[in-house]
Amino acid sequence: MRIWLNGELRDADAAKVSVLDHGLTVGDGLFETLKAQDGKVFALTRHLDRLTRSARGLGLPDPDLDEVRRACAAVLEANPMPLGRLRITYTGGVSPLGSERGKTGPTLVVAVGQTTRRPDTTAVVTVPWVRNERSALTGLKTTSYAENVVALARAHGAGASEALFANTVGQLCEGTGSNVFVVLDGELHTPPVASGCLAGITRALVVEWTGAKETDLPLDVLERADEVFLTSTLRDVQAVHRIDGRLLTAAPGPVTAKAMRIFDERAGSDLDP
Ligand code: PLP
Repeated sequence: MRIWLNGELRDADAAKVSVLDHGLTVGDGLFETLKAQDGKVFALTRHLDRLTRSARGLGLPDPDLDEVRRACAAVLEANPMPLGRLRITYTGGVSPLGSERGKTGPTLVVAVGQTTRRPDTTAVVTVPWVRNERSALTGLKTTSYAENVVALARAHGAGASEALFANTVGQLCEGTGSNVFVVLDGELHTPPVASGCLAGITRALVVEWTGAKETDLPLDVLERADEVFLTSTLRDVQAVHRIDGRLLTAAPGPVTAKAMRIFDERAGSDLDP
């Protein structure tokens, strides 16, 4: 496996990042997960815009987007695969212990792994922990992901693939790595970004393409929604067939099936060569 590290393509086994990198010591870093089909990256410009927004939010220098584009292309060329997940990691760089962020400038890593198309339906659980819609990190795609790891372990323990959070005022927010949509009386809704969820790229495309409404929703909407689905770069649009103990046996329902169809038809038009 060849990866990109700070300006060069290298063998993954030989590439070295300092043990004093601020990304490792304090989780001071950002990431993006992108999907690549036959060497072409889906929605690359949107991902790079979000990376830049996140860098500004975290107070990191703007990433060199020309380098990131070159890195993605080089990594995909060196590791050909039909369906890949690219991971861009951008951290605060090396800092002596106890000091503030790096004197060396940021660290940029781009790596790729194989992935497969996700099943059309999945199970989710709700978790008792909350997303803080007023945190300094809200909306930034940071590498501080441990809370999601804990929540996901809870989901996996219950035979589910995703855990859903409410925010501090009890509104439905998002999953550990996905956004959530619900159908109520035939209308499609998703929590607004002000709920504390990540501005997911798949979410934005689905809102644009289906006219879904951005609505504050209490968490218990999941007990009565006619349909529920998740969106993310690796899930695309994925119907939910079980929420905690509640079965939605007809998943994907008609509104979800339509969103899946629209997404599949249009998503191919946003591939960057
Ligand atoms: N919410 C969180 C917390 C995420 O980490 C992700 C993706 O990793 C998403 C939502 C979905 O975003 P996207 O559609 O851009 O992949």
